[in-house]
Order: sequence, then structure tokens, then C-alpha cells
Amino acid sequence: MRVWIDQDLCTGDGLCMDHCPEVFVLLEDGIAYVREDRAVLNDPGGAASLAAVPGWAERAVVAAAEDCPGESLRRADGRRDGVTTGARTERPGRAAGWRA
Ligand code: SF4
Repeated sequence: MRVWIDQDLCTGDGLCMDHCPEVFVLLEDGIAYVREDRAVLNDPGGAASLAAVPGWAERAVVAAAEDCPGESLRRADGRRDGVTTGARTERPGRAAGWRA
């Protein structure tokens, strides 16, 4: 699974980081970004910054997507439908696509 965050929708509450600090981080700008192997992918962010989620973290990432009040977490998963590209119709937080 690979994920990214639509920073335009992020409310900055940090719930994603509470669920999985290995994949999500809240920066000084008050917005969440994904991280991969400890590297924060905030440049440029958005759909251009996809993080690979380790298998052991997938459950926590799904929980984060379900709780995300901004519904800003996005999934790019080759298993299902290829890479999503920022379409607002992709609402993973409450979409079946986030369930295994
Ligand atoms: S849970 Fe969603 S809205 Fe809250 S900080 Fe994370 S990405 Fe932003």
C-alpha cells in the first residue's frame, strides 16, 4: 500500500500521527505529511509524495484514514485501480477501498 495526503484538506489535528507516527508526521506548518523510512515527504507533498506503507503498519494507516476528519488521506494501490491522482472522488477514509 502507498499513501499520500491532500494537504489542502488537512485540519492539522494530528490523529493520523497518533495512529501511525512511522508513516505520518505533523510539521511546523500545522499540516500532516507522509514519511517513508524516516524521511518526511513534504516537498512537494500531495499526490507527488507517495509513501510506501510497511505491511505491519497497514492496519494503523487504515484506522488513520477512517478517523481522519479532513478525509485527506489518499491511497495509491496497484492492486486495485492503479495510482490515484488526487481525484476528490477518492474518499478513502470511509470508502470500502481502504478495507482489505
Ligand atoms: S488525521 Fe487527517 S486531517 Fe488530521 S492531521 Fe492527519 S491528515 Fe490531517
